[in-house]
Amino acid sequence: MPRPRLILILGDQLSPGLSSLAEGNPARDRIVMAEVREEAGYVPHHRKKLVFLFSAMRHFAARLRRQGWTVDYHGLDQGLGDLCDAVLKSAREFDAGELLVTEPGEYRLREAMKRHWPQRLSLSVRLLEDRRFLCRAETFRDWAAGRKQLRMEFFYREMRRHTGLLMEPDGEPVGGRWNFDADNRKRYDGKQRLPGPARFEPDATTRQVIDLVAEHYPDRFGDLEPFWFEVTETQAEEALAHFLEQALPHFGDYQDAMTEGDDFLFHSLLSPYLNAGLLDPLKVCEAAERCYREGRAPLNAVEGFIRQILGWREYVRGIYWLLMPDYKEENRLASHADLPWFYWSGETKMRCVAEAVRATREHAYAHHIQRLMVTGNLALLLGVEVKQIHEWYLAVCGRL
Ligand SMILES: Cc1cc2nc3c(=O)[nH]c(=O)nc-3n(C[C@H](O)[C@H](O)[C@H](O)COP(=O)(O)OP(=O)(O)OC[C@H]3O[C@@H](n4cnc5c(N)ncnc54)[C@H](O)[C@@H]3O)c2cc1C
Repeated sequence: MPRPRLILILGDQLSPGLSSLAEGNPARDRIVMAEVREEAGYVPHHRKKLVFLFSAMRHFAARLRRQGWTVDYHGLDQGLGDLCDAVLKSAREFDAGELLVTEPGEYRLREAMKRHWPQRLSLSVRLLEDRRFLCRAETFRDWAAGRKQLRMEFFYREMRRHTGLLMEPDGEPVGGRWNFDADNRKRYDGKQRLPGPARFEPDATTRQVIDLVAEHYPDRFGDLEPFWFEVTETQAEEALAHFLEQALPHFGDYQDAMTEGDDFLFHSLLSPYLNAGLLDPLKVCEAAERCYREGRAPLNAVEGFIRQILGWREYVRGIYWLLMPDYKEENRLASHADLPWFYWSGETKMRCVAEAVRATREHAYAHHIQRLMVTGNLALLLGVEVKQIHEWYLAVCGRL
């Protein structure tokens, strides 16, 4: 009888089709999930982000149990230091022969699992490829090899051809152009009704997590309430449907707009669900394409939306795995200034910055133009040290 295995599922791996789950056997193996101090504290994560991740993890664990899996769930209250401690605790109770993990999305964690965990656990650790992205890391490496410039636009066209998204049978892009970005630069004049994101009432599990995070991180950055994020796949699907119907038709026109008094305009707010694994990126792109094919949204909006996921999201991940670990040490402009305190307090006369920080504090979210053209651009102009601004983003809205 083969020895049972432990399967560690991370907070951004809440996908039923995950490679480690596909490899596992509910009758024989045991799942480990954990809320640990190191992951909650390697940067001062926004409290709403912690509530989202922990609550989504707890709902996913409940779902796995309903599907017949045995889940060892180590809550924050157990005070475990890091994920390896949590696996060690389960390994002691369960005579496992091996640990299976879908490869983490972060270099820090992947290296720890490869270099230190086998010894700490006295267990072989098998990392499985994360197949939830549309471009494999090695495919990106092959694409990048020998190129003078790694232009996102050319990568994106490859991905369009590869997926067939918004392509004509003759291999040409729908509408005769690959990119409608030039059409997506309208000012928001207040005439078009703003849909706002889909909001969900927190259930008992989420309420418990809100209290837990309030107790453990009383002084951490970020409002806890109101909490309206989706925390299950079903809810995330409803948020997608809400976006496709209410916002996508105008997503393109106002993609680069900013306005005072509304923090979301026509953006989808789907990044938390894509990044946690509650939504599948290809299915999201296909759903948007259907809106175009059925005349429910214009091409500039649908192409603009798909380019963000199929192009930018896949490209940024490809660059990350291509250039890490040196990438994290880069500081090409020799920027050494400290991050101004108003990035946390929001106390500045620069209204656009104050608004972006307020939105970030309230929602653990700021839309792309606020990130790129306001908080990002200002840090560039001030010569803020790359590490400091990177950790600020990671803390306040990163990975969400
Ligand atoms: C400084 C900075 C930090 C950022 N940090 C993150 C982060 O930690 N996690 C993250 O997912 N995105 C990050 N982005 C990209 C982008 O700003 C967010 O994905 C987007 O604002 C999320 O909001 P949304 O879901 O409403 O996106 P929408 O505007 O509705 O876009 C749809 C989807 O496309 C993807 N997307 C959009 N823009 C980008 C982009 N530039 N790069 C990669 N994917 C994109 C996201 O998955 C997003 O959900 C960052 C951008 C900047 C400039």
